[in-house]
Amino acid sequence: MCAAAGYTRREMTHHYTVLHSGTILTFRGALPSDAATRDAGDPGMPDAAGHRATAICYAHERILAVGADEEVLALAGPDSHVVDLGGRAVLPGFVEPHAHPYWEGWAAGMAVIAGRDRRAALRAVPGAAERLEPDAWLVARYDPTGWDRPDDPTRDDLDRAVPDRPVLLAHVSGHAVTANSLALALAGIGAGTPDQRGRMMIDRDASGEPTGIIRGPDAWDRVAAAMPAPTAAAGRAALARAANRLAADGVTSVADADVGATHGVAAELAAWGAAISSGEMPLAVSLLPGLVRIAPGPGDAVPSPADIAALLPESLRDRVRLTHVKLKADGALTTHTAWLRAPYADAPHAGGPVHDPEVLAERVGRAVQAGWGIATHAIGDAAVAAVLDACAAAQAASPPPALPSTPPSARAHRLEHAMLLDAGLVARLAASRITAVVHPEFLAWAAVTYRARLGDERAARLLPFAALLAAGIPMAFSSDRPVVSGAPLDGVRAALRHDEGLSVAEAFHAWTAAGALALGDDDAGRLEVGHRADLVVLSGDPTAISRDSWSRGEDGIRVVATVAAGRLVAGGLEGLE
Ligand SMILES: [Zn+2]
Repeated sequence: MCAAAGYTRREMTHHYTVLHSGTILTFRGALPSDAATRDAGDPGMPDAAGHRATAICYAHERILAVGADEEVLALAGPDSHVVDLGGRAVLPGFVEPHAHPYWEGWAAGMAVIAGRDRRAALRAVPGAAERLEPDAWLVARYDPTGWDRPDDPTRDDLDRAVPDRPVLLAHVSGHAVTANSLALALAGIGAGTPDQRGRMMIDRDASGEPTGIIRGPDAWDRVAAAMPAPTAAAGRAALARAANRLAADGVTSVADADVGATHGVAAELAAWGAAISSGEMPLAVSLLPGLVRIAPGPGDAVPSPADIAALLPESLRDRVRLTHVKLKADGALTTHTAWLRAPYADAPHAGGPVHDPEVLAERVGRAVQAGWGIATHAIGDAAVAAVLDACAAAQAASPPPALPSTPPSARAHRLEHAMLLDAGLVARLAASRITAVVHPEFLAWAAVTYRARLGDERAARLLPFAALLAAGIPMAFSSDRPVVSGAPLDGVRAALRHDEGLSVAEAFHAWTAAGALALGDDDAGRLEVGHRADLVVLSGDPTAISRDSWSRGEDGIRVVATVAAGRLVAGGLEGLE
């Protein structure tokens, strides 16, 4: 069936692009789960990849036709770009509903202190300072999850490595930092600096002196505030780097899930404005301001989406989606800051909340009243329960506003990570109608650490993808990049390795249609006439490869080209511009 309603040869322009002789996975009519298709036993019924076609035509940022080769090729004229896919596959561009592109752009230029041997890793720290100005800060990331001795570096370790300039290392999770003595002194952190429970916890030695390690969501801000402010040009360049990396991985929609976390809301919004205006950020952009960054105190008035949009250049206000704020209920398993119901297997505590439960509920309620959906980070089972409580309280007080111009799901709340679950929490999540935005590549990255933190029984309960789908919970995949490298295809591999109940089509649905739903962006995630021409060309049909091949990483599928709003933004294929 050709879906080129209303378009005829007479309306043809130079700019038509026709891709043919491939497999088009449209995700139109897609079910979130294959289960219904399997049960019906009807081969004509769409699965989680939706209706299939062989050709697609787009122009002027919009999809004009999806259908069979002969029907769609009939639209092409002498000035059209006609591209033979040669059996390759076209999918909706991947949707990344929870990443940190501003930070990724900065982090792209930083060393990552990692590897197997902790001592060798720390010996590499001075090398990261080689090209810096004499008094510049050394800022890098560290990933202890693979170290033979997974202890965070201390100020003593860093003083030995680099005594003569301030050093700040961010844990790759973003939930802890470690600094040398000079950096601590410049930030004014000493024995007398009080902790802020849940938000900034200073590790101390027997005499009460800081060890250099600081945990919690405010740890980075507290030290980084002592660094010179970044220039606007540097922020724009960071976003250009992030855009190139995302596009190379097939991503066409990206959400920054904590605007303000690196350099503050004003500086980061200025960088976003500059990068989008210049064309260096050509992807569809959603920005999730950090709630504590736009309303620092629990009782502070929360600015509305329109208030935040007013900080962007006027010409961009329609182009940037502002639908959710980001809030953190706990930290990370890797840094022992996720909030568990029972103590860690390798520490004598259970982590704790970032906000006391009544403060969490109060913040959620104020943000909902200001017109936001809430995207709340919760990794431990106690944190997930607290978020469900807080959202239920806010929902009871004032149901989320459904704007007439957007689908009713547009302001649905989101739970970010939702890692440690049990049957009771899955049932509560299903009843809440909250979207789960989950991060499969974490499981490939830190599986050994997770087992050490949780023990085998609880580690086996991490991220039950198929159970979430079976319960009817909208489930979007995401990467949280740059915590992990973040390519959606790697996320698919990790998800299929982790959960035998998940199908290949379901995994791709979670990276496309479900991600668009999480962002409330009806224009993304499906290849349908009238939708934005956001698409990714893969080297072959991903659903024709067995899930075993995927889970072993032997699928052989790679990104060939990425088209955002009708423009080639990464890769290439003969005839494609
Ligand atoms: Zn994140």
